[in-house]
Amino acid sequence: DLPLLTRPWRLGPLELPHRVVMGSMHTGLEPRGDGGAALAAFYRERVEGGAALAITGGISVNEEARGGPDYVVMTDAATIAAYRTATAAVHDAGGFLSAQLFHAGRYAVGEWAVAPSPVPWRAARGLVPRELTGADIERTIADFAAAAAAAREAGFDAVELMASEGYLLNQFLSPLTNQRTDEWGGDSTARMRFPLAVFDAVRAAVGPDFPVSVRISATDLMPGSTTEAEVDAFALALADAGVDALSMGVGWHESTVPTVQASVPHAAWIAYGERLADAVHARHPELPVIGSNRVTELRDAEAILARGHVDAVALARPFLADPEIVNRSLSGDFALINACIGCDQACIDRSLVFREISCLVNPRAGRETEFPLGVTNARKRVAVVGGGPAGLAAADDLARRGHAVTVFEARKELGGQFGLAARVPGKEDYQLTVRSAAKRLAAAGAEVRLGERADAASLTGFDGVVVASGVTPRVVDIEGAQLAHVLSYEQAIRQGVPAGTVAIIGGGGIGVDLAAFLVESHDERTRARVFEERFGLDGSAEFARSRPTRALQQPRPGRQVTVLRRAGKFGQGVGITSRWVNVGALQHAGVRMLAGIDYRRITPEGVEVVHEDGTVELIPGETVVVCAGQEPHETLSEALAAAGIRHEIVGGARDARSVDAVRATSEGIAAARLL
Ligand code: SF4
Repeated sequence: DLPLLTRPWRLGPLELPHRVVMGSMHTGLEPRGDGGAALAAFYRERVEGGAALAITGGISVNEEARGGPDYVVMTDAATIAAYRTATAAVHDAGGFLSAQLFHAGRYAVGEWAVAPSPVPWRAARGLVPRELTGADIERTIADFAAAAAAAREAGFDAVELMASEGYLLNQFLSPLTNQRTDEWGGDSTARMRFPLAVFDAVRAAVGPDFPVSVRISATDLMPGSTTEAEVDAFALALADAGVDALSMGVGWHESTVPTVQASVPHAAWIAYGERLADAVHARHPELPVIGSNRVTELRDAEAILARGHVDAVALARPFLADPEIVNRSLSGDFALINACIGCDQACIDRSLVFREISCLVNPRAGRETEFPLGVTNARKRVAVVGGGPAGLAAADDLARRGHAVTVFEARKELGGQFGLAARVPGKEDYQLTVRSAAKRLAAAGAEVRLGERADAASLTGFDGVVVASGVTPRVVDIEGAQLAHVLSYEQAIRQGVPAGTVAIIGGGGIGVDLAAFLVESHDERTRARVFEERFGLDGSAEFARSRPTRALQQPRPGRQVTVLRRAGKFGQGVGITSRWVNVGALQHAGVRMLAGIDYRRITPEGVEVVHEDGTVELIPGETVVVCAGQEPHETLSEALAAAGIRHEIVGGARDARSVDAVRATSEGIAAARLL
């Protein structure tokens, strides 16, 4: 029951049936050159799933506004034509599409980068943005206006100006990046001049009846940047100028505070949007303010509305994970919803390297044209061996399309590596995606056989088999590895680790997760407090504290943990946006991380390591946990081939060397389509 979310509201003249907005995401589908077919399918599916208003990823207002090579320019004829296809599809499905008008400024990854002042950002690799001249600024304002007019021509129902996350409009607002001495820089009033001029020009271009919203940075999370009073003054100036809604953003890309990663408490930033909303509503009580960031489910959105500050809630990645999130939530089918796990691996991490985005838990995302839905008229009997991420992705797709699916899972529970990950603090949502897959399989009539290890005999009679039997932890060849206090990571997570010192052999993604399992609190409210303390925030975790806990277990006492690594980075293999956060959390918790060593032997007291200078050190380990990679499970391949049964091998069973869950689920759906 979501009574507050289902109250209708208005964005300018648009009448919206509920208060959920599909927030902006750069998809990378924009430059495909397919006439907008992929974009149309992507947005249509989400509108059919209940999104009434979707905001596009940023569409550049001119060439130098592009964030990277995969951005398109709104005024180009091909862009207008492509979005005409997308807006038509959205309208056909009964929704509205808003174009986010975007200028990357100094965040452009290319030699075309421009900025208020020539201040590079820390990941710019020596690229110094060109300072915009006064004439450039006038031209850029005109380009925003032209882009808005082009958006209207392309059939969009609204435009959103991107003025947060440290992009150009935000750069003008901040004293960190606007050091101009002309009329476009100086005090906070002067620094607002450019974004307000852009708004006025856009309003003039589209007319008073066309909705214009602005995404405004509720906090930059940058020391020395715009103050709260300046944020409020900008918001009020926009309100006075006739903006139709304000949408909150949080944090710059170069901020050292994480905002969207799995370890960030749910809805951690909403308090900042609420403060902004209160300031705006004091003068403009009717102006909608949209809260957002790290909100993953609509019950949380309902709880946010119940707090009585913001008027609507935007979610973005959850629409990748489950295009039907709104319809399923509104009909109370929460258990069927495929949860966004905050991994960033197939979405943000990919967009940072200019690849098309998808979703780890929904490998169809962004590939709706490649993997069309539709019930088969050639029903097959398909077995899926293994109920981990790859197997579930395959089974989900097969069952949904009407095939007769039987899943064999040797354990008593589904989930595979996700079942282990879900016990790591901050990764509890992994369990939600597993549980929802089980519910969807049951709803589609699939059979799940738990505790049953498939063999060639049990697979006889199936038309095809997806082998997704996963991985098993690798055993290391170190003296003492057979001692009783040496555990595999799987044993450590499933059985727990006795009190006392722990030495972890292997500091890749699993080693880092295991250390988090040992030292971080399993209570989200406690973690929210630690998060605030670690990043020097105040009130950011208020929402997390006020809602029911998602804890699986109680907090544990502190203990001495050492992570050991021969070579390479700690957390290697973890996505680019998450690795620094996860490794930093361990440092914050006092975990010792020791690289550049070799293993001498394991003793009852711990692990003897040899440093590069030849000295030997005993690393205390009343328990030693081995996180040294995986081996593939027996794949059944030969037996299936001998029996003449068509099969595909996917995920870790196919390649355990670099287990990558994005690859695993992607192979799962691809196999489902091949059989
Ligand atoms: Fe969420 Fe991960 Fe999917 Fe991105 S890839 S939408 S973070 S589950």
